[in-house]
Formats: sequence, structure tokens, C-alpha cells
Amino acid sequence: MSKKRVAVIGAGPSGLAQLRAFQSAAAKGEDIPEIVCFEKQDNWGGLWNYTWRTGLDENGEPVHCSMYRYLWSNGPKEGLEFADYSFEEHFGKQIASYPPRAVLFDYIEGRVKKANVRDWIRFSTVVRWVEYDNDSGKFTMTLHDHQKDYVYTEEFDNVIVASGHFSTPNIPYYEGFESFNGRLLHAHDFRDAREFAGKDILVMGSSYSAEDIGSQCWKYGANSITSCYRSAPMGFAWPDNWEEKPALVRVEGNTAHFKDGSSKEVDAIILCTGYKHFFNFLPDDLRLKTANRLATADLYKGVVWVHNPQLFYLGMQDQWFTFNMFDAQAWWVRDAIMGKIDLSAVTKEQMLADVKEREEREEADDDTKYAIQYQADYVKELVAETDYPSFDIDGACQAFFEWKKHKMKDIMGFRNNSYKSVITGTMAPVHHTPWKDALDDSMTAYLRN
Ligand code: FAD
Ligand code: NAP
Ligand code: MG
Repeated sequence: MSKKRVAVIGAGPSGLAQLRAFQSAAAKGEDIPEIVCFEKQDNWGGLWNYTWRTGLDENGEPVHCSMYRYLWSNGPKEGLEFADYSFEEHFGKQIASYPPRAVLFDYIEGRVKKANVRDWIRFSTVVRWVEYDNDSGKFTMTLHDHQKDYVYTEEFDNVIVASGHFSTPNIPYYEGFESFNGRLLHAHDFRDAREFAGKDILVMGSSYSAEDIGSQCWKYGANSITSCYRSAPMGFAWPDNWEEKPALVRVEGNTAHFKDGSSKEVDAIILCTGYKHFFNFLPDDLRLKTANRLATADLYKGVVWVHNPQLFYLGMQDQWFTFNMFDAQAWWVRDAIMGKIDLSAVTKEQMLADVKEREEREEADDDTKYAIQYQADYVKELVAETDYPSFDIDGACQAFFEWKKHKMKDIMGFRNNSYKSVITGTMAPVHHTPWKDALDDSMTAYLRN
């Protein structure tokens, strides 16, 4: 019998976790399937692979990157550390807790360089379409190799979708947008806060992008920040030149009008209104349709496509935990594909019941602490069922709880705190420069003593 063939879509943190999971089994002498990873960019790292481009990339494909210059981790690195590859192993020392993008990119890359899996990836290759054939029990994938400008098809026994869900912007319309006299953009296209130095900006939304993009603009010299919320204010103790307003109603020229009747003249509007799960390479019977939440629709154990268990999704949940959760998922999916976890013993009804139970448990409480603990329990559940190195997940939760408190205390200073690694047990050093004064986000600047 020929080897099973497994396709992984995307070489971001989730897809790379999958490659590392299979490689670690191979390193233990296990007979692994043939793995092929397709990545539309010319390098790995997913969102962490920064580009100055916006709109379309060099091949005419939508730019994947939603990150920007000067982006620092918005949560402590102690919450995302790989259990099989610590920060200390990678950098040769313990480092401060909120690394800038370039530092995290280097860390992500370090593990997969060590695992030597780059050859498994076909770069600059876009997955155009995936179809399942009931008779053969295989998927046919249509692939576009942009290096050769060549379209071809290949068959696979399993497909793992790890294409991310923070790249296709959700762009609402408000009255007057078409005649706004300033710059109007979505967070996905935001690249450099210096563009807004001296300007009055409006950030729309009350989640992480609104908070962080507003903070970046503040740090790099915006004249004023106004943020507006649809449901609830962020409620931090903002600096004097930051005002939080209720929902936007309409725009007239450069004037933004809000629900409480107040208004503000602004030079730019940045829509921090979130992203859509968007899979234009999947037909209806394989395509995940879900809100951005902790219990995704139609995924048994958060990863198995209930309607065809040969198909898997990684990282489709809203995320408190990131890299280590993707690892837990990837190790579990590997074992399901290799038969160590027997999916044929689980009926569709049981899978649907599992999804329903997760949804109900998520909806039982809307407290943040509850949500963090909920996702921690999910990570624990998966880790317990595979040989992914177990680690102190409750300890990681403690770092998140501390982080929440530090943000309420000082929103422009929370990144000056440090936390204890749950992998090596060492305390992170306090960074040499307060975040608000650290204008150089390079790796060299971050790592110097
Ligand atoms: P992605 O990183 O999105 O990678 C998906 C990959 O799939 C990409 O390389 C893409 O090119 C490829 N791909 C997509 N479609 C196709 C196709 N059709 N064919 C071939 N390849 C395809 N998390 C943190 O832990 N800390 C942070 O500080 C943090 N900051 C963030 C900041 C921003 C602005 C955003 C948007 C997210 C942030 N995140 C952060 C969360 C982020 O989602 C994860 O860290 C992580 O990048 C998710 O990994 P992923 O592999 O699932 O998806
Ligand atoms: P998000 O968490 O999904 O939040 C979307 C926001 O947009 C919500 O506040 C929502 O309001 C609002 N919204 C949606 N539609 C709207 C509409 N029609 N009108 C008005 N408001 C609307 O998305 P996000 O903030 O972009 O975060 C995405 C991911 O990026 C997260 O994982 C986050 O951690 C990450 N991120 C990280 C960093 C960093 O590390 N430095 C920076 C930015 C983002 P409601 O509450 O009313 O729904
Ligand atoms: Mg285990």
C-alpha cells in the first residue's frame, strides 16, 4: 500500500506546528505519512511574516499580513511558549515578556529550522480549490505555483486547513464614508503609526486592534485619539489626549458624529472592526462557517470537520492561547491521522454533541477569566491525549490574569511587566526601556542588555 498523503494549507504558526508534530513522530522512529504544506507567501511565519505591502501582493493575491511596524506582543510570551522549545533554548537566555514581532518571528522560525522541515513546504503556491470524491475517498487540490506560473492538481487522503482567520477584513459601511475628506482604512492595511503623527485619528471598535493601533498612534505622536464602541467601552485609564465615545452614527466631511450627539473633527478613520473566516478555496460541503468564538461551529474537538472527518482545521478559534494551543491541536490531529486516536469509533451524532457541549459551556458565562480558563481547559484536554510535553497550563493562565490586571492599572505601561516561564521556571527580566519610550522595535534593540 502506498503511503497516505496529507496536505497542510498555510505555513503560519498553526501549519508549522503541524509539520513539527509529524517530524517529532518521525524522530521517534514512527512511520509518518507524506506531508506537503502549501504556502502562498514566499516565506513561513503567517501573520508574523511582515510585509510593507497592502492590497495585493507581488503575485496579485490578497496580502495576508495584518501586522504592522512596531507591533509588540499584546499578551505575555509566557502564555504562548512552546512546551518543546523554550525561549531560553532559542535565545540562549531568558528575555523580557512582550517581544516585538521580529523577535517572535525569529522564535517561531527557530523551532522549525531545528526540525528541518522547510523542504516539506511549497512556497509561493496558492491553494485554489479543494474537492472531495466520495468514490475514491480522496481530496483533489488545485494549486497555483506562482514561481513557475503553473496550475496543477494533486490528490490527498487528508487536508488540514491552517490558513488563519485574521486576514480578510470585516469592513462595515457608515453614512458619509464615501465623502470623508481624510484617510479611511481598515486595520488590515495599517502599517506605520508615524503616518499619523500630529493627526487627530478615530479608531472604530473596542477590541485588541482598536486598543493597540490607537496606542501605537499615541506612542508615535498622534495629536489625539478618539475611539468609539458599538457594544461596550474598553474602559482603560486612557492618556489625556484619548477619548472614548459611543458608536459612530455618520460622517460629514471630516466630522464624525456619535450616538450621544457629540462630534469630532478627524484626519483619519481606522476601522478596527475585525476579520472574517474566509475560505475561497473550499466548496460548501467542506467550508467552515463560524463566528470568531472559542467554540467553533462544526469542529469536533475544535479540529475535526464533523461533516467529513478526513478534513481538519487548526487555529480557527478566537484566541487567548495561541502557539501552544496550535501545538496541542496539531499533535492531536497528527494522532488522528496516524490512527493512534480512532476517529472511526466516533459517530457523527457524538461529534455534533461534542460541539454543542462546547458551545453551551462557552455561553454559560461571559466573564473574561472564565473564557481564559475555558480555553486553558481545552488545551489541557488535547495535551492529555497526545505525547505533546505537558506543561503548567494553569500557570500560563495566571500570567494572563496578571496581564489583565496590569492593563487595567496602566494601559500604556502594561508591557513593562515580566512573568515567570511555565516551561523553564525562570522569571523574565524587566525590559531595559519602558514600552512608550522604546521606538526602535528591532530584534537587536530588544535583545541588548
Ligand atoms: P496565520 O498566521 O494567519 O497563517 C496562515 C498562513 O496560511 C499564512 O502564511 C497564509 O499566507 C497562508 N494561506 C492562507 N490562505 C492560503 C491559500 N489559499 N493557499 C496557501 N496558503 C494560504 N497572537 C499572539 O499570540 N500574540 C500576539 O501578539 C498576536 N498579535 C496579533 C496581531 C494581529 C494584528 C493579528 C491579526 C493577530 C495577532 N495574533 C497574536 C494572533 C495570530 O492569529 C496568531 O499569533 C497566529 O499568527 C495564527 O497562526 P495561524 O497559522 O493559524 O494563521
Ligand atoms: P475582534 O477582536 O474581532 O474585534 C472586532 C471589533 O470590531 C469589536 O470591538 C466589534 O464590536 C467591532 N465591530 C465589528 N463590526 C462592527 C461594526 N459594524 N460597527 C462597529 N464596530 C464593529 O478583532 P481585532 O480587534 O481586529 O482582533 C483580532 C485579533 O488580532 C485578536 O486575536 C487580537 O489579539 C489580535 N491583535 C493583536 C495585536 C498585538 O498583539 N499587538 C494587535 C491587534 C490585534 P462588538 O464588540 O460590538 O462586536
Ligand atoms: Mg500528554
